[in-house]
Amino acid sequence: MKQNSVIAIASGKGGTGKTSLAVNLASYIAVQSDSAVTLFDLDVEEPNTAIFFEEYRKNSKSRDVFIKIPEIDKDRCTLCGICSEKCNYNAVVQMKNSILIMKEMCKSCHRCKYECPQSAITMKDSQIGEVNSYYVQNMLVHEGKMKIGDIHSKELISQTKKLKTSGTILYDAPPGTTCPMVEAVIDADYVVLVTEPTPFGLHDLSLAIQVVETLRKPFGIVINKSGTNDVLIESYSDNNHHTIIGKIPFSREIAEQCGNGNLYYRQEPYASELNQIIKSWQEALI
Ligand code: SF4
Ligand code: SF4
Repeated sequence: MKQNSVIAIASGKGGTGKTSLAVNLASYIAVQSDSAVTLFDLDVEEPNTAIFFEEYRKNSKSRDVFIKIPEIDKDRCTLCGICSEKCNYNAVVQMKNSILIMKEMCKSCHRCKYECPQSAITMKDSQIGEVNSYYVQNMLVHEGKMKIGDIHSKELISQTKKLKTSGTILYDAPPGTTCPMVEAVIDADYVVLVTEPTPFGLHDLSLAIQVVETLRKPFGIVINKSGTNDVLIESYSDNNHHTIIGKIPFSREIAEQCGNGNLYYRQEPYASELNQIIKSWQEALI
């Protein structure tokens, strides 16, 4: 297995227990295996890793994250409209007496700047969010958080992933199967797909599998809230030759513990399941 493997923990929908699994896996690696691990909370619209590590997060280092957005020098601009024509994202609108930049649409590609014949465009920093970084013993946590009202989650995820790492790298990916999820898993070596044994869970799992198969990522399935309905996921997995690498049994007590920010990685049978999940990705990456 290559050093510092990147493992994405993803799910086709929210509320499957993805974050609690990611946090417990990271804690298991750090504490039970006494190994370095870096946990990235890439669910930047609603990061909630911190509820498990409130005390440690108080000492976090915060960094603002920016992208470059065009700014027009009105004295130079002749209103020729080339920037509006050339922008592939419809982020530049030509008005009667001015040029309007739609920050939400801008992908910071710099094309308008290079196309402007009057050199009237300068790219300026615009904050899209922040990253809070802190240690929980030998676990390094980077938590990306988008600025309220901003929509550049893909860009924030991409910049968060560039931060310092140590040991095994775990990504807590955004839920769903849209661009932010793809951005989170695109450079992963292996994807753990978390689902729950319900018809909705199965439907969203099948969508998530389509994404990781398109990206040609090896993956394994974890059934969270495992119990009497597991057959739903098991027969789907059997029929499609997918592998279930772990089951986190349903327990009201454990669900309440997680809701209160407590971890289950030391308790049985959870510790054995976490160990099995880690072994499965290690074997897949040999
Ligand atoms: S390309 Fe330059 S000069 Fe032309 S409208 Fe845009 S900013 Fe103004
Ligand atoms: S930087 Fe790119 S996306 Fe943004 S306004 Fe200019 S051309 Fe459009």
